[in-house]
Amino acid sequence: MEIFERLEEHGHEQVMFWSEPDVGYRGIIAVHDTSLGPAMGGTRFWHYDTEEEALVDVLRLARAMTYKAAAAGLDCGGGKSVILGDNRTKKRELIFRAHGRAVQAMGGRYIAAEDVGTSVDDMEFVRKETAFVTGLHGRSGDPSPLTAFGTLQAIRAAATEFYGDGSLDGTHITVQGLGNVGYHLCELLAEEGARLTVTDIDQARVERTIREFSAEGVAPDDIYGVDADIFAPCALGSVINDETIPLLKVDIVAGAANNQLAEPRHGDELHRRGILYAPDYVGNAGGLVNIYGELQGWDLDRAREKVSEIFGTMCRVFEIARRSDVTPSVAADRLAEERIRAAHEARRADF
Ligand code: NAD
Repeated sequence: MEIFERLEEHGHEQVMFWSEPDVGYRGIIAVHDTSLGPAMGGTRFWHYDTEEEALVDVLRLARAMTYKAAAAGLDCGGGKSVILGDNRTKKRELIFRAHGRAVQAMGGRYIAAEDVGTSVDDMEFVRKETAFVTGLHGRSGDPSPLTAFGTLQAIRAAATEFYGDGSLDGTHITVQGLGNVGYHLCELLAEEGARLTVTDIDQARVERTIREFSAEGVAPDDIYGVDADIFAPCALGSVINDETIPLLKVDIVAGAANNQLAEPRHGDELHRRGILYAPDYVGNAGGLVNIYGELQGWDLDRAREKVSEIFGTMCRVFEIARRSDVTPSVAADRLAEERIRAAHEARRADF
């Protein structure tokens, strides 16, 4: 693989490899863009079949963070890190302290947080080696409630765009995935008076949501075909694909899951079918606001206020899409790129 070509292709600034064989640590930190500020993004601990697969993943994830931060109006850039290996290891302190040393060596250009395969406890080990880490105990804590609150704003904005009214009272919403975010989202939607149909591969989670929010439950594969108003994917990525799109009987897709579109062309396909798609990284930025706010010393009210801006941002995305006759995904990218470009130019003007 030609690494510099890879970096230049999507404008990545830096990639750093760190190896500590004596503790079994191999990590990669990718910084996509720091025009708006230091790169923020989680640490993923994952078993990759090849080193190339790990590098491609960390580059892709870092770039997505730049867009998420820019669209959310935060003064931070995008980065991500991956630790290669079995995330069930018991040697967590050794591994995560090694990771902390790698993060420290970046000198503040990258700030870590938890992600897939890592926990708040792991970040505490990172903290022993560096101050450039967030999402710690007693600080901003679990980001999921704020992520769910932001997703609610995205859903309300999409309803306003599609129906001319953001009220969700009586709206039929399907929710896929009742984990940390999905469960909190159901709670908020139920408070708004929405009618819920839900699914999860964990039946206990389905039962709890039926019990607590008078939801209806369906089998995981049946969620796509439910005749409803809005579909909220809150489980996995790539759920909007060639197989699922023909099954959808909803007006809107708006949820918290990262990378909902299997490929960009699936955004075009939703558009062609008249289904409004609320771009995932705009709607699910609440988690990033949470850790960003921790760095800024914000309290929960301040962080919630920032997350509530997702409503206006999503409305703006739909407006750009309408005006420029592009899909909401393209409009969201344009909005984010505009902000990054302005920061680039302001930086150049400093010299
Ligand atoms: P989670 O692991 O707590 O919950 C995911 C849920 O999805 C689990 O209950 C799981 O059983 C269920 N699930 C898995 N496969 C399924 C399937 N095929 N059908 C139905 N259900 C299935 O994760 P989370 O923290 O709630 O995050 C959910 C999504 O939101 C992820 O895509 C995540 O990347 C994204 N996200 C989360 C945050 C956050 O603050 N936690 C922030 C931004 C984005």
